[in-house]
Amino acid sequence: MISVKSLSKSYLDGDQHIEVIVDLDLSLSRGASLAITGPSGSGKSTLLNMLSGILGSDSGSIEIGDAESLARLDKMSEKARTLFRREHIGYVHQFFNLVPTLTVWENVALPVSLNKKRSKVTNARDMSLELLAEFHLDHRADAFPDILSGGEQQRVAVARALIIEPLLVLADEPTGNLDRENSEAVAELLFGACQRFQTTLVVATHSDSVAERADHHLTLGISTNEIDK
Ligand code: ADP
Ligand code: MG
Repeated sequence: MISVKSLSKSYLDGDQHIEVIVDLDLSLSRGASLAITGPSGSGKSTLLNMLSGILGSDSGSIEIGDAESLARLDKMSEKARTLFRREHIGYVHQFFNLVPTLTVWENVALPVSLNKKRSKVTNARDMSLELLAEFHLDHRADAFPDILSGGEQQRVAVARALIIEPLLVLADEPTGNLDRENSEAVAELLFGACQRFQTTLVVATHSDSVAERADHHLTLGISTNEIDK
């Protein structure tokens, strides 16, 4: 499902190269989950952004997909990576990133509108309402996001990540801005839904209880990356 080989990425800071991801290997099957932990600045977001294709890598390979649609992200142009991401990858951000001028159901449906030509989803509104009901948010469907609590907004964001029936969901500190109770609720939905849909999940987190839910663990360090399976 995901296969990463010898992946490296450095940033240029003035005239100094900062090596962030060094020679990383990673392999995840369909429906498996991976928690990435490590201190701030260890490269969690950098790795997620390379897996999503937002950020190009320096070297190494990233393969995502199944026999039907296998993509070599590192060989694709930025445009091709964007199209692949819209069709196959769901993303959950730390700060929810809902669109304030769209209602809750319109926010959930947005990835389908952005991906009209290729989407498998024929009725985005119905699908959105179905997901919202499952996440106990159907009563908020016509509201605007600003009246929702942080926990509710993040549940909307999880629904939005899932509506395209992605191959892969990437979540960057999805509970980083929530209290413990809401963190658990969001983690439960995220892991539960990915398991049910057999969606591969990669989540960067500082929370031990979120990390413990994952099948695999990757700890990034400021200078070393270790994987423990
Ligand atoms: P994390 O998500 O684990 O906090 P990041 O991936 O955001 O870590 O950052 C890893 C390192 O790369 C940090 O030292 C950060 O300052 C640096 N970095 C991230 N993005 C850039 C960039 N666009 N340009 C230069 N350095 C960057
Ligand atoms: Mg980060």
